[in-house]
Amino acid sequence: MKKNILDLSFNELKTAMLEFKFEKFRFTQLCDWIFKKHVFDFTKMTSFSKILQAQLAEKFTLFVPSIDEVLASKKDGSYKFLLKTHDGNLIESILMLAPGRATICVSCMIGCPLKCRFCATGSEVGFIRKLYAGEIVGQFLVVEKYAQEHKLADHITNVVFMGMGEPFLNLDSVDRAIATFTDENLFGLSKSKITVSTAGVGSTPGAGKAAGSGSVIADFINKYGVNLAVSLHFTNDALRSEYMPVNKTFPLEKLVADLKKINLSKRDYITIEYIMLAGINDKLEHAKQLVKLLSSVKVKFNLIPYNPTDSLSKLIDAKPSSEKAINDFALYLKSKDFTVTVRRSHGVDIEGGCGQFALKKRSK
Ligand code: SAH
Repeated sequence: MKKNILDLSFNELKTAMLEFKFEKFRFTQLCDWIFKKHVFDFTKMTSFSKILQAQLAEKFTLFVPSIDEVLASKKDGSYKFLLKTHDGNLIESILMLAPGRATICVSCMIGCPLKCRFCATGSEVGFIRKLYAGEIVGQFLVVEKYAQEHKLADHITNVVFMGMGEPFLNLDSVDRAIATFTDENLFGLSKSKITVSTAGVGSTPGAGKAAGSGSVIADFINKYGVNLAVSLHFTNDALRSEYMPVNKTFPLEKLVADLKKINLSKRDYITIEYIMLAGINDKLEHAKQLVKLLSSVKVKFNLIPYNPTDSLSKLIDAKPSSEKAINDFALYLKSKDFTVTVRRSHGVDIEGGCGQFALKKRSK
């Protein structure tokens, strides 16, 4: 099978181009066509001869996901993209705009195997397959092209792996995609502009290389120096296992032990994501447990009001926490000197929660 050219690293691409025996500058031109001009068809790369175009097409495909639908949120200025992979599956990306910043939230899987009960991706969409690195890179390219054409942003400046899927269960592709995002010859994003979010599945004992720390998460974050966000959400194993089955295999103690192995620079923190479910995990006792659990890790908190959807409400009897509960929870954490932000959910009005848009579309 022909390889998607977007799956290749910079060096692999360079080697492949040199094999064609064309002038060296053709390689720089190819990168410009794809990564700067967003041209995804070899025959439209007009500075190339027909022979080079044919050679490229003979050896590679150039698949980027196609845009199936775009929904603009009236509330927060985010854009939700429903994209179709070459084999006809739906994935989501979100573009979030702020002054001087354009962040893309990418998916790394079609669906998710983790089945967190509050999440539409795992509980409703199910798990179809992992994405290739080129499909993650492709999300960036099509969304950036759209943003430029619609004058929303000149460039995407930040990437968060918070769409569908669990990055640490698709490490090969995520690793490759991050290498491409941070390669100064390609996207050139600084590592501080990239965040990987995990439910904590990387903490398998002995999975790290002998030379590593023994923690998949820590080894990966230490290798790239990208930011880590952890979907912690619950403060004790009984509760967490009830809502996040992954906790049965990777309980909190292991997860926290892994987080301690991450080398953080002075200014860096691990972000703890905490979904706020009314009466379930939003009481003062939970805030206290949270502080105790994470007392020896450098963290900041992102409180996320639960985003209920019609389909989820059939599966889980939960409501978003009240403003007061969220504020009280945040105040307690702040009183213990933690930095706390409250995510006023991006794109709630456009089914902006993880997997919710893809789900809505499927069920039409
Ligand atoms: N598997 C990774 C990446 C997905 S990130 C992880 O778990 O971190 C998606 C984020 O959205 C996670 O923090 C997830 O817990 C959160 N989320 C999922 N469903 C949600 C919902 N209904 N309301 C609010 N946040 C939700």
